Amino acid sequence: SNQETGWNFENSYARLPEVFYSKVDPTPVPSPKLVILNESLASSLGLDSEALQSEREVAAMAGNRLPEGSEPLAQAYAGHQFGYFTKLGDGRAILLGEQITPQGKRFDIQLKGPGRTPYSRQGDGRAALGPMLREYIISEAMHALGIPTTRSLAVVTTGQTVHRETGLPGAVLTRVAASHLRVGTFQYTAHWGETEELRALADYTWDRHFSEADPGDNRYLSLLREVIERQASLIAKWQLVGFIHGVMNTDNMALSGETIDYGPCAFMDIYDPATVFSSIDRHGRYAYGNQPEIGAWNLTRLAEALLPLLHEDEEQALKLAETALGAFAERFHHHWVGGMRAKLGLFNEKPEDVPLIKRLLSLMYKARADYTNTFRALSLDRPVEADLENADEFAAWREDWQARRGRQEESIEASQELMRRSNPAVIPRNHRVEEALEAAVEHGDTSVMQRLLAVLAKPYDYESEQEEYCSLPDPSGRPYRTYCGT
Ligand code: AMP
Ligand code: MG
Ligand code: MG
Repeated sequence: SNQETGWNFENSYARLPEVFYSKVDPTPVPSPKLVILNESLASSLGLDSEALQSEREVAAMAGNRLPEGSEPLAQAYAGHQFGYFTKLGDGRAILLGEQITPQGKRFDIQLKGPGRTPYSRQGDGRAALGPMLREYIISEAMHALGIPTTRSLAVVTTGQTVHRETGLPGAVLTRVAASHLRVGTFQYTAHWGETEELRALADYTWDRHFSEADPGDNRYLSLLREVIERQASLIAKWQLVGFIHGVMNTDNMALSGETIDYGPCAFMDIYDPATVFSSIDRHGRYAYGNQPEIGAWNLTRLAEALLPLLHEDEEQALKLAETALGAFAERFHHHWVGGMRAKLGLFNEKPEDVPLIKRLLSLMYKARADYTNTFRALSLDRPVEADLENADEFAAWREDWQARRGRQEESIEASQELMRRSNPAVIPRNHRVEEALEAAVEHGDTSVMQRLLAVLAKPYDYESEQEEYCSLPDPSGRPYRTYCGT
């Protein structure tokens, strides 16, 4: 029963005006089978892992029955995709409801791949096993890295084939999120809704994510400022670990400040701001080094959508929006420099820090050094890769860095400790993720993925043996490419 599993649904989104969603049931599938369940996430949601593995609950996570209290719906939204404005919506996702945890927290429980919705357009509403497991692995790795993200509760196979370039095993992911409110949700409402609906959405967003913040005398301006702050912090965290989102369309930017949409994302190996993995990002719009700028661009689209709420006078509204947006670059820089100081074991702030950081990055770029392993080697007080270690100006950089670490009260041991807490020893390396997916999808063997997940769950653990997860892919391999929407 619901009681033993722990489902405890509310459906606050379904209480919003109907422009925001369409009621729709998942489409049943022939034979649901559990592939992976996130037991620690289940427990933090107040769910019983044993019960979740029962036929009844696996059927629910495949969309074959609804958990009690669920009022399923697909959310409406719009978005700028690679710069072009489009009407979208959950084409292959259905919100089951909001789980209220024993601690009173509210999380969206969403099925990804549960069949067609009114927003599916030409799509089949389905998802393939490989990409759903990939989202599971990378979102859980992000969580362990301390980066706000949607999470993955379970993946089930459907017993159905999905047809892409080839036939693939179908699957449904159960995604958990603080909410699925997006910049695109506001764009949708600003374009096709009434001002009162926009206000209802803004009020809902405020109550759901920012009720602890100070609304000041203009709560919609405060909403914009808070979203800007969370995105500045989030994107700084991505940059600090070398995460490339890959498809920062405005529909893929969550107002909660969580990372969402793990389609074409990947971690950078060699440090190069121009790095792109996505096969469809032909012009490098979403390259690693562009992410902060794209973040600001997306936030500008949010501000535009909010204009009618900011001030009744259009000119005044524009001024308020511009001022709020103007803070993004400075807030991003603040979070990024703060994070970089920690990566270099620096506790206090000195004016020479930014040049010191930039010199290192520039040397890494020229030596084609691996981003993660360079900081890992520094954290372990080991030599970095030969090409970097032997680079002309690297010895001088190291000396300046050591001298800088001397200009703080904390000991070298404390500095080293800070570095190990700030530089992941392991990240989800692309070839490791591929290897785990191949074993699971081609051979039905999830043990490789389970081992990888166990290592990724402790990215800052320098004590355990993780050497084999730190090695780089064979350089003779083809450039790594990711694909959206499979
Ligand atoms: P994304 O690029 O993953 O953010 O997806 C963009 C839009 O395409 C969203 O509205 C998705 O719901 C929709 N979409 C992606 N794949 C499918 C599919 N197989 N069937 C229906 N809609 C889809
Ligand atoms: Mg998306
Ligand atoms: Mg996607």
